[in-house]
Amino acid sequence: MASVGSVTRQIAALEISAKQNGATKPSRPIQKTQSQTSVSKLLTKFAAPHPFPDAKPKSTVKAVPPRPANPTARAPAQKTLAPTQTLSKPDRELDIGKYDGGFEIENEKRGEVVRGEAAQDLALDSSVSRTRPTREWHLTDFDIGRPLGKGKFGRVYMVRTKVEPNYILALKCLYKSEIVQSRVEKQIRREIEIQQNLRHPNVLRLYGYFHDEKRIFLMLEFAGKGELYKQLTKYGSFSERRSAVYIDQMADALSYLHSKHVIHRDIKPENLLLAINGELKIGDFGWSVHAPSNRRTTLCGTLDYLPPEMVEGREHNEKVDYWALGVLTYEFIVGSPPFEEMSGYNATYKRIAKVDLRIPPKVSAEARDLIVNLLQYDPEKRLPLSDVRRHPWIVRHRAKTPSPPGGQS
Ligand code: ATP
Ligand code: MG
Repeated sequence: MASVGSVTRQIAALEISAKQNGATKPSRPIQKTQSQTSVSKLLTKFAAPHPFPDAKPKSTVKAVPPRPANPTARAPAQKTLAPTQTLSKPDRELDIGKYDGGFEIENEKRGEVVRGEAAQDLALDSSVSRTRPTREWHLTDFDIGRPLGKGKFGRVYMVRTKVEPNYILALKCLYKSEIVQSRVEKQIRREIEIQQNLRHPNVLRLYGYFHDEKRIFLMLEFAGKGELYKQLTKYGSFSERRSAVYIDQMADALSYLHSKHVIHRDIKPENLLLAINGELKIGDFGWSVHAPSNRRTTLCGTLDYLPPEMVEGREHNEKVDYWALGVLTYEFIVGSPPFEEMSGYNATYKRIAKVDLRIPPKVSAEARDLIVNLLQYDPEKRLPLSDVRRHPWIVRHRAKTPSPPGGQS
C-alpha cells in the first residue's frame, strides 16, 4: 500500500510563492526555474576520465539526423572503454531481457516534431558537447532489452552497446514535444549537462545523449536494483544499519556535488536508485542548480522535504540539501517523513517552519542526535556533511557493514 508520504509526494509538485507562504493549499505545479548561470562554466570544472574517451571534439552544435534503421549495422569498435563498475559477469553474457518494441510503437503515436528555438534547445548530442564530447551515438548502436519503467516524458529500457565491451546501460527516452508542452526545455538541457559532468560512485552516471526528430535519448548507468523508493514501500522502513549506510553514501555524494557548486534541491527516496550491488545512486537532477554564489531565492522541491527557509520564501543555499538529508534519515528509519500532515499543505508548512519534530521512541539515541542536528531551523547550524560522515551513528554502522546493503531491510 502506498504510504501517505507517497501520496503527498505525488501531489506535492506545487507552486508556492513567498507571498503564499503556506497560507492556502497551492493548486499549480511549482515552476522549476532555470539556472541563471551558463552551465558551460560548470562543465569545465570536471576532469574525471570519460568512459568513451576516443571521441573527437567538434566545433559546432549540429542536429544529428535519424539514421535509417539498420539493426545489423555495427558501430566502429572502441579502443578503450571503462570496465562496467556494477556488474560482475561480463556484460555480453548478461541477459538484458526481451524487447517489446516499445520505442518504435510509441514513436508512431506519440509526440510531434519540434521546430524553431525549442528544436535548437533540444538538439542534445553529447558528441558535440563543448567540454566532454563522446563518440556519436544512435539508437541502432544498442541491443534493446526489457523495459525498466515509464517516466513523465517516455520509457526507459535496459540496453547493451553493440560495441565492445558491450556496456549495459539504461536508455531513457524523452519526447521533445512533451518537454516543450511542459515548458522545461531549458531545465532538461541544464539537467543533462550537469549530470553528464558528474563523476561519483553514488551519483548516477550519464554517459552520453543523442536525439532524433522527436526524441532525446539518455544513456544512463544501469541501476540494477531499481528505485530505492520501491524498497522503502516494500519494507515500510529500513533498519538503522541500512539507513546509516545509505545516509553515509548520500552525505558523500552531496559533499561531492556541493564541491562542484551543484545544489541538488530535490533529495527524496523517489530520486534515488540502487545499483546491482545495493549501492545508492542519486538519479535525478531535475531541480539541481549550479550555484555561482551560494544564495538562491527560487522556491522548489517536494513539500515534505522543503526546509524552513524555502517554506518561508527566504534565500537558500546548499544547506537545503543538509535539511533534506535529515528528512531522509527520518523517513528511512520511521517510514514516513517527519512533517507530513494529513490535514493539508498549510499544516505541513507550519510544522516545517516551527521544526515541529516528533521522533518516535523506536529511534536510537544516536540516530535521533543526527536527525536533530540536520533538521535545524538555522541553515548555518545544520551539521556539516563531513561531520555527518564522522557521526557515531554512521561510524558504528559503517564498521559493521563490509559491503553495501543488499536486499534485506
Ligand atoms: P522523471 O525522471 O521524468 O521525472 P520518473 O522518475 O517517473 O520520471 P524515469 O526516471 O524516466 O521516471 O524512470 C522511469 C522508471 O524507469 C523508474 O521508475 C525506474 O524504475 C526505471 N529507471 C529509470 N532509470 C533507471 C536506471 N538508470 N536504471 C534502472 N532503472 C531505471
Ligand atoms: Mg526520474
